[in-house]
Amino acid sequence: MKKRVGVLALQGAFREHRQVLEKLGCDVTEVRRTSDLDGIQGLIIPGGESTTIGKLLRIDEMGERIKELGAKDMPIFGTCAGMILLSKTIVDSDQYRLNLMDTVVERNAFGRQVASFETDLQVPALGVNPLRAVFIRAPYLKEVAPNVGILAEYNGKIVFVRQGNLLASAFHPELTPDNRVHQYFLNMIDEH
Ligand code: GLN
Repeated sequence: MKKRVGVLALQGAFREHRQVLEKLGCDVTEVRRTSDLDGIQGLIIPGGESTTIGKLLRIDEMGERIKELGAKDMPIFGTCAGMILLSKTIVDSDQYRLNLMDTVVERNAFGRQVASFETDLQVPALGVNPLRAVFIRAPYLKEVAPNVGILAEYNGKIVFVRQGNLLASAFHPELTPDNRVHQYFLNMIDEH
């Protein structure tokens, strides 16, 4: 049976995630209201502006519902702004967050506007071929708890992690033709 995966579609790069998931054979729900969360087996929180997405998540208590689902084991994958929203601690910010991952995130960690770049990452969990990664005003994780698995680092900075049913990347895997990161997330849904 086809998997049904939700993509949070309040703001940001949700269409690109949708396209990748459809290419990989999933049914996709664009999640705009709390009731859209019903019946999905996993959720992607896209890149965008974490403060804006956070504000929108407060409407209708959608954020609280996502938190409950994440705490109950539903696989959730946050990219870039999504990684920020999943983190329990955001350096120098009291902005809204889902508070699910034992991570300390620093926003715009590679410089504010100019620091968008592409690089090759070694990600042993995805095999030997390097992963092309696009960083756009990206965060990085300053600290992670021992129960958080580090999947990739860039120049000594943690940029890709997994904590049980939760996955987070500082980069945008939906912007490159290599679908291994999304496939990895779909495998997490299968395990679940
Ligand atoms: N800098 C953005 C933020 O803090 C994240 C950028 C992105 O998602 N590409 O929300």
